[in-house]
Amino acid sequence: MRVKILGSAAGGGFPQWNCACPNCRAVRAGTFRGKARSQAQVAISADSHSWFLLGASPDLRAQIEATAELHPREGVRQSPIAGAVLANADIDHTLGLLLLRELQPLRVYATESVRRILCEHNSMFAMLRRVPGQVTWTDFTLGRPFPLQNASGEDSGLQCRALSLGTQYPAYVSPARQGELTPGEASLGLVVGQSSGKRIAYMPAVPQIAVPQINEALLEQFESCDVLLFDGTFWSDDELIRIQGSGKTAYQMGHVPVSSAEGSLAKLAGLHHPRKIYIHINNTNPMLNEAGPEYRQVREAGWEIAEDGWQFDL
Ligand SMILES: [Zn+2]
Repeated sequence: MRVKILGSAAGGGFPQWNCACPNCRAVRAGTFRGKARSQAQVAISADSHSWFLLGASPDLRAQIEATAELHPREGVRQSPIAGAVLANADIDHTLGLLLLRELQPLRVYATESVRRILCEHNSMFAMLRRVPGQVTWTDFTLGRPFPLQNASGEDSGLQCRALSLGTQYPAYVSPARQGELTPGEASLGLVVGQSSGKRIAYMPAVPQIAVPQINEALLEQFESCDVLLFDGTFWSDDELIRIQGSGKTAYQMGHVPVSSAEGSLAKLAGLHHPRKIYIHINNTNPMLNEAGPEYRQVREAGWEIAEDGWQFDL
């Protein structure tokens, strides 16, 4: 199983187009000790031939071009991308599907609630079903493993299982529509594995509601994985408020911060087996600065901070 991190930033990327925070200013000025990053995107393959995307980033077009394995191989129209698995309906996590609209057969896995948000409430997604067999939507059930197959139903050798982490749907979903959806299908973590038993967990948005659940059951799930890609969006709960002067807390936005006694660094300190990597890092997060104390603290705690272009084999 090969895993490629095509993008490692949270929504907006790093730098973000309208942001002049110290990080974004420094990276534009060329004085930043650290790397620019595109919006979070992971691709996984069992055979390095057929690839599945976890989510579909708004930066997907450039990420595909930057990744030789994802370029067309034969014929005039072809893609090694067989499908995508969606963890939520966030714009930063699904907009890339619209970039894959060129009548290329794909299979997209989602919960019924996320599929309904995209396909029933957003007419633009009709571009993905202009012809029969274009995008095949496949619903999955929380907690139950499902095989990843291409649009023709051929098995990839990969299995996925989704864990419910939160009940917060994107702000663009009206309260009335949210009332028609299943709350537990709003925000998921994905565990992808192979028959060999190697597994990777992708947890780009772990909200407050999951904090009490960073208990033995969830820790056990993480401990059984070989790689953990975990929510590194914010360093502190009031990060955006301190930088902008107003706004929401990390918890209100559905992200447990990295630091503090209730943060992920402390709560996941007991994990021993998986390689621990922060992903989905917001441009304001001070741990992006490799010259800073936050970066040092994270690295000394045994965590890595994902960068675009990383690849590993499991
Ligand atoms: Zn910024």
